[in-house]
Amino acid sequence: MIEDIDARETVVRLEAVRASVARAAREAGRDPGDVSLVAVSKTFPAEAILPVLEAGQRVFGENRVQEAAGKWPSLRERCPDVDLHLIGPLQSNKVREACALFDVIQTVDRESLAIALSQEKGKRGRLPRLLVQVNTGEEPQKAGVTPADVDAFLAACRDRWGLPIEGLMCIPPVDEPPSPHFALLATMARRNSLSVLSMGMSADFEEAIQLGATHVRVGSAIFGHRG
Ligand SMILES: *Cc1c(COP(=O)(O)O)cnc(C)c1O
Repeated sequence: MIEDIDARETVVRLEAVRASVARAAREAGRDPGDVSLVAVSKTFPAEAILPVLEAGQRVFGENRVQEAAGKWPSLRERCPDVDLHLIGPLQSNKVREACALFDVIQTVDRESLAIALSQEKGKRGRLPRLLVQVNTGEEPQKAGVTPADVDAFLAACRDRWGLPIEGLMCIPPVDEPPSPHFALLATMARRNSLSVLSMGMSADFEEAIQLGATHVRVGSAIFGHRG
């Protein structure tokens, strides 16, 4: 019965996060319905995800195509209305598989990937919803378009590659206060008339909501620590 206790604790954490998301939205003078909670289920097996699905959560995030391919097709059979987001790096040779699996790709971060997505759109006629990842901290090891290149990259996505980009996503540096990064992302989105802002994780989603996040990506605060 250990598993039942784990499942119950996960659902209690989910409800607490939902309440915090709603509270942060109201405190920011926003409609709680305008903030989507993306439950980040990476590293957790299907058995750990099921209770969260049963508690009514429908939006999930995974960071690896291979891992998602192993667990989501069967979960989706049980819950066809799941909205699955890719929040990790995407290699161009996995574009086809990612487009078949995911409803949203949050990590469009370079020209070669944009071109591969554009080719896939030509073959399939449709694509997942797309966000551009911005490397707001300009960290060399981190994926994402640099802030200086964002406007030109978005214009190229639209005009050269025919990719409808809905918004921006960022992962601030771990060792800096996140708020300036959230504010910068919000400014870039506003400037480009983009409505979707994916920012904020377990430790800082309230601040992200304060600064306009429409999607917060929360893993450990719901599923517990990753092993
Ligand atoms: C793992 C991950 C998250 C969730 O992080 P937590 O701190 O566990 O909430 C959010 N976004 C991305 C891109 C991630 O890889």
